[in-house]
Order: sequence, then structure tokens, then C-alpha cells
Amino acid sequence: MIRRTRRIFIGSVPVGGDAPVTVQSMTNTRTADAGATLAQIRELAAAGCEIIRVAVPDREAVAALPAILRDSPLPVIADIHFDYRLALAAIAAGAHGIRINPGNLGGPERVAAVAAAARDAGVAVRIGVNAGSLEEARAHGGDRIEAMVAAALDFCAAFEAAGCTALKVSLKASDVATTVAACRRFAARTDYPLHLGVTEAGTPAAGIVKSAVGIGALLLDGIGDTIRVSLTAPPVEEVKAGIRILEAAGRRAAAPEIVACPTCGRTRIALQELVEAVEDEIRRLKAAGYTIGLRKIALMGCVVNGPGEARDADLGIAGGDGKGVLFAHGQIVRTMPEAELLPAFLAELRRHVSPPLPEQD
Ligand code: SF4
Repeated sequence: MIRRTRRIFIGSVPVGGDAPVTVQSMTNTRTADAGATLAQIRELAAAGCEIIRVAVPDREAVAALPAILRDSPLPVIADIHFDYRLALAAIAAGAHGIRINPGNLGGPERVAAVAAAARDAGVAVRIGVNAGSLEEARAHGGDRIEAMVAAALDFCAAFEAAGCTALKVSLKASDVATTVAACRRFAARTDYPLHLGVTEAGTPAAGIVKSAVGIGALLLDGIGDTIRVSLTAPPVEEVKAGIRILEAAGRRAAAPEIVACPTCGRTRIALQELVEAVEDEIRRLKAAGYTIGLRKIALMGCVVNGPGEARDADLGIAGGDGKGVLFAHGQIVRTMPEAELLPAFLAELRRHVSPPLPEQD
């Protein structure tokens, strides 16, 4: 059962209630460099990112916010630590949301000042509780999970007391089990939307697995309103992984399903590159709002299983030795050299996009 949470908005993007789970990422440019930050935001939007967070560590970053906010295709959340004045300035600059850890803002008065400013501006606040920066575990008998949940609930109460109710919460730890347990316990006690992620997850090889297990477990429980796959990698990889996790958890339509063979010693075409290029094009089209009217795509390396799978799919390729066969709706279109396979396949794919794409040269 999907957990029903209260509805908030990050800019124009709904979060919580019955809104779809959204994919977030975070820029890794210097926010003070508005041009570079906007270029990365546009790249992430094209990959399917729906909400972007930018670090605001200083006044230079605050000064760049108006230009970023004016031209960003995505709602922008300002990420602030330690200096509550930066939070006030980001709100004044028109940030769509702020992400703070109230525990490091310098005391209840400063937290109340930020809450009042967010309330007056109608800005959503993500309250982030990180196990690594929590010193209260001892007060809960060493129970780190209870300490995280209690801290989050206390912070929410402080914001509610100031009349700021557009809240989203994240409870993160670098180990998956703690993250999942804390989110489950918090979810059982409140209706605040939850942002899911495993902090400091690592390189893609390790981080995607940790995130898929942690975020995936919670999504399968019906918990989660926004997600971020934190990776030590270009942020576009976070977006790709996040979309795949949502699809695998059944929280986002995966159409068209892509069947790709794992490759083996019989493979005589560069199948991995082919599959990645097709996935990238599908992600780009979907992020741009197009619908792809195909049920299944099959990209196969050789004649063992290739023709059968490709024939069974709406569109398919069965590779050969430096060449391949393109199939459409069970019929052979033609056999062609390897270099022609991708362009021919993408041309066929684009014919099934709605609304129709403009003709390409
Ligand atoms: S389809 Fe062919 S190339 Fe791909 S894994 Fe099977 S046998 Fe190997």
C-alpha cells in the first residue's frame, strides 16, 4: 500500500499526496558560477531530473541564485548548513525550497527565524537528519534509529510551531539498514513526505547497489515521495539510476521494456554501446515529455536467441558478425552493417513517438 502523505510543492512540482515519486539530483558545479550551474541543470533536466538541489555555502552562491532561478528549467532547492543567514537570503532570493539540518543552524531562535521566513514566502523546507551528524544517540540509550526519528520529529514540531507546514523530511545514514529502519519508523508516525537516499553511497558500482537496496526496499513498502541516488560520479548518473530504481520498484512505467542479452563469446557487435545509446535516447525523449508507443524492445547479440527475441518485440536487433538484422513488429526490415544498426533503429523508434517528432535531416 502506498503511504499517503501531505501534499507540498517544490515550485510547480507536487510532492506527496498522490503525486508521482520524483527524481532529484544535486549540482556539483560551484553555485557561484551561475552559467556552469545552469548548464548542468539543463543537462540533468534532459536526463529526466525533476527537482535540483544546489549547494549554498557562502554569499557568492546566494548572489548567483537569482540568475539560476530565473533560467532554471527545474525547481531549485538551496542546500544550507551552519549559517542561518544564508537560509534567510536564499528564501529572499526566491529559492523554491531549502534543505537544512536544523541541528546545525545555531539554536532554536535561528531555526524559528528560518521557519518564519519560509512560512511567509511559501517556501518548502526539507529537514535533513543525518546519522553522521547526530549526537543524541546516547540520550536514546544508544538507539541511533530512535535518535534520528526523534530528532526529525522535534525539528518538524519546531517548524510547525512557527506556522511552517510545507515540510519534507529525510533520514539518512551511510549504511542501508539504518536508513531503511529510520524511514520506516518515521513514516509510521507522521504524514510528512519523505525524501529517500543513502548518504555517501560511493562510486556507481557500490552506490547504485546500496541505493537500489535501500531506496528500493522503502519504495516497495509504499514509502517515499522524492529520491536521490547519491553517487561519487557525474550527477547525470544519479538521475539515470534513480529512474531505473523507480521503474524496477514499479513506481514508474518502464515502457518500453528493454530486453538486452548479457553478451557472451558469440557477440560480434558492440552491443553494450548500442543498448546504452538506445536507453539514452528513450530517457531523453521521455524527459522531454514524449510518449513512446512501444511495448518491448529487444537488443540481442547473435543468432542463438536474437531472432526469436527480436521477432517477439515491437522493435528488435539480432546481431551477427559485424552486421545485424533489424526487426519491426515481428518482420525483418533488413540486414545491415553494424555501423548502420543504431541510426536505423533510432529512426524506427522515433516513428513511434507521440506527439510526432519533427522530420530530421
Ligand atoms: S544472444 Fe547470443 S550473444 Fe547474446 S548472450 Fe545469448 S548467445 Fe550470447
